[in-house]
Amino acid sequence: MDFILATNNMKKLAEMQRILSPLGINVVTAKMLGITLEDVEEDGDTFEANAKIKANAACKATNMPAIADDSGLCVDYLDGAPGIFSARFGGDHGNDELNNDLLLEKLDGVPMEERTAYYVCAICCTFPDGREIIVRGECHGHIGFERDGNEGFGYDPLFIINGKAFGRYTADEKDKISHRGNALRLLKEKLEKII
Ligand code: IMP
Repeated sequence: MDFILATNNMKKLAEMQRILSPLGINVVTAKMLGITLEDVEEDGDTFEANAKIKANAACKATNMPAIADDSGLCVDYLDGAPGIFSARFGGDHGNDELNNDLLLEKLDGVPMEERTAYYVCAICCTFPDGREIIVRGECHGHIGFERDGNEGFGYDPLFIINGKAFGRYTADEKDKISHRGNALRLLKEKLEKII
């Protein structure tokens, strides 16, 4: 069964394919089908609401089961910021360098024990008949005092878990404990029951 993934991020596609292919699910992007998905306004105030907006729009546009995710980093000392605004925290959408600079600045002088943070990933899967599954995965760690490692993306050089920054984890190591990996495994469990 083909599912459309509402993103052109090839890393996410590969991860979803790895986890969902044992269920006979083939995840494709709109681009792979030669379809252009209109940009939708992600104006929800939770990760779940934004994932749902994207999955519903992709399902409606293609009449296929659609999967979308929304993710970000929540820092306890900053009352959960940057949260759903993680991609544009530094002011420039998707600029990881600016985002990490601002995060370090905001945590300047804050001791390690108060630098707790967690990644969140919400995934929504919407079927053309109206069925919908929403899952959430989290991954808890700390924000380091300086960047460490070049693996991953986004805030990974600053996110420390089990004594090492995600910036130094291989993709496979990260998948096993990451918010996205955890959400995908939950999605797989739920899909197994209905398809
Ligand atoms: P999106 O949901 O893929 O658009 O991610 C939103 C933003 O959250 C990204 O631009 C990153 O800044 C941050 N983010 C989400 N997941 C991760 C991750 O696994 N590592 C690092 N940053 C992440």
